[in-house]
Amino acid sequence: MNEIIKNNLSIIHQRIAHACLKAGRDLAEVQLLLATKTVPAEKIKQALLLGETLIAENKVQELKEKHTGLLDVPHQAHFIGHLQSNKIKEVLKYVSCIQSVDRMELVQQLDKRLQAEGRCLDILIQVNTSYEDSKFGLAPENAVAFVGEAAKFDTLRIKGLMTIGLFDADAEKVRPSFQLLKKLSDQIRQEGIPGVEMKELSMGMSGDLETAIEEGATIIRIGTAIFGPRIYPDSYYWNETKN
Ligand SMILES: *Cc1c(COP(=O)(O)O)cnc(C)c1O
Repeated sequence: MNEIIKNNLSIIHQRIAHACLKAGRDLAEVQLLLATKTVPAEKIKQALLLGETLIAENKVQELKEKHTGLLDVPHQAHFIGHLQSNKIKEVLKYVSCIQSVDRMELVQQLDKRLQAEGRCLDILIQVNTSYEDSKFGLAPENAVAFVGEAAKFDTLRIKGLMTIGLFDADAEKVRPSFQLLKKLSDQIRQEGIPGVEMKELSMGMSGDLETAIEEGATIIRIGTAIFGPRIYPDSYYWNETKN
């Protein structure tokens, strides 16, 4: 058993518990998602054997490669990367939720494929709360109308919103991104759109999970603080095809 992963996980759970206490929130409201990009299946498996249940990948290829190595440990996988339409059929083999839905064309193509398979899928809508060009996600001002449109597709269960937020070592600078996501989620909830739940706010990473929890996160996505630094820069995952 990898002692480093074990220790890191225990530190993360302490951080979550402390942040919940400070924010007056119930620990059960915050789910830990392991962001496993570049992490080999054996290491992910160690975390799952230690009791973790939720992982997510940014690339369909990595989901596929690691899938067999993780078959014998119960878990759920989400998708949190930029999803190209030609990968929809493949990604649907592995995930129970796509957190990075950010355009109508993707909604339409997902619905088409899900109808053919006779199933539904949980999704989150990704919002570019930092307005940085390098990030995917809807412009915040379009999010409410977008959810209204996407809700018309019955194969998609819209469970909430996701954001990456401003990329800054100073967690305080990220706070406005999280506040904006929460505000949008409240606005959408007030619209009372049938079939739209707005239960989940997926926000917060290794450096800013406390801030995210204070601002209402229900899913925090942690990679580095559990598995260590990655060799590829995040830009490789966040804007590989954006131009
Ligand atoms: C990599 C990644 C994370 C985790 O980031 P860390 O800083 O390593 O914790 C969270 N969300 C997304 C979308 C990611 O790509």
